[in-house]
Amino acid sequence: MAIISSKKQPPEPNGEPKQRRELAKADSTDKILQPEAAIDEQDKQEESIRPQRFADYIGQKDLKDVLDIAIKAAKSRSEVLDHLLLYGPPGLGKTTMAMILASEMGVSCKITSAPALERPRDIVGLLVNLKPGDVLFVDEIHRLSRMTEEILYPAMEDYRLDITIGKGSSARIRSLPLSKFTLVGATTRVGALTSPLRDRFGLIQKLRFYEVEELTKIVLRSAQLLKTPVTEDGATEIARRSRGTPRIANRLLKRVRDYAEVKSSGQVTENVAAEALQLFQVDPCGLDWTDRRMLSVIIEQFNGGPVGLETIAAVTGEDTQTIEEVYEPYLMQIGYLTRTPRGRVATKAAYKHLDFTPPNEQLSLL
Ligand code: ADP
Repeated sequence: MAIISSKKQPPEPNGEPKQRRELAKADSTDKILQPEAAIDEQDKQEESIRPQRFADYIGQKDLKDVLDIAIKAAKSRSEVLDHLLLYGPPGLGKTTMAMILASEMGVSCKITSAPALERPRDIVGLLVNLKPGDVLFVDEIHRLSRMTEEILYPAMEDYRLDITIGKGSSARIRSLPLSKFTLVGATTRVGALTSPLRDRFGLIQKLRFYEVEELTKIVLRSAQLLKTPVTEDGATEIARRSRGTPRIANRLLKRVRDYAEVKSSGQVTENVAAEALQLFQVDPCGLDWTDRRMLSVIIEQFNGGPVGLETIAAVTGEDTQTIEEVYEPYLMQIGYLTRTPRGRVATKAAYKHLDFTPPNEQLSLL
């Protein structure tokens, strides 16, 4: 059954050139809404706006409450913090929280990620150099190799390194004591962690998407640090289009700041922010080309779904993992997409946002 829409025409018979045009357009701007850190952001400016203390870490009240108690209890007993697993989509503040924990505990934070710990000696090198109380932050912890994971088990549980010396029947295990430390693991896919690893974390905490008011505060704070004049409305306009993600909010702020400097007085107002973000093809809900393509394919080609993940990946040109970890969580959060056992389904709100008539309203038009 074809979708009947009062507002939108069926796709052009010759849709191919349009699709290619859109793809070319998307290429130049789509990275702006990616919540992963870009290489060019690993710079001093990014670090200068990263909150350093608990008080500057905006939102995530539940997480902060739990960690505040854990820090106070550990400090009062002069113990190290329990191992902590933080999970949630990229760009929500997992690395930042690990660094804040270390600074609140008065210790150093060593930052690494699972793909950098491929060989057992990589993790051994890090563990033996930890000082008492240090925080070891391992990003993408679900991607640890089995051997690295097995080294971590006794290290996490008994602060002990078990090293196998020799081979075959003469192999022997020697144990070395390690300084007591806190492992902070971060993952976008908590379900992909092995249960022995997950069980060794004393605290498992989820980070959630930020509310617009929280992101507005983050934008205002970052703008102050970047010495960019911004009105409250301007900050809210950026916040609304940031997919609930502080990293994206900060990135959009920098793009809007450039636009404001070149095209107007330099002040980021609501109008300036809206104009700039329209230019970068960030829609008022923070959706980009891929989000819109995903939803319109489900609606136009599959009557709203259910559609399998693989099919969505094929038509958008994204890999299934990026769709599951980056695109879907936000679309589900704002109520545009649902997951069912048979596939993904576009909701009524998605139809409305993309100017299609929802199926139950189509009947009344007949
Ligand atoms: P993750 O590790 O979850 O991918 P990060 O901790 O690197 O995310 O955060 C990305 C950026 O977003 C940081 O540089 C920081 O400036 C900003 N940020 C994250 N969380 C907050 C917060 N709660 N308050 C203010 N800024 C934040």
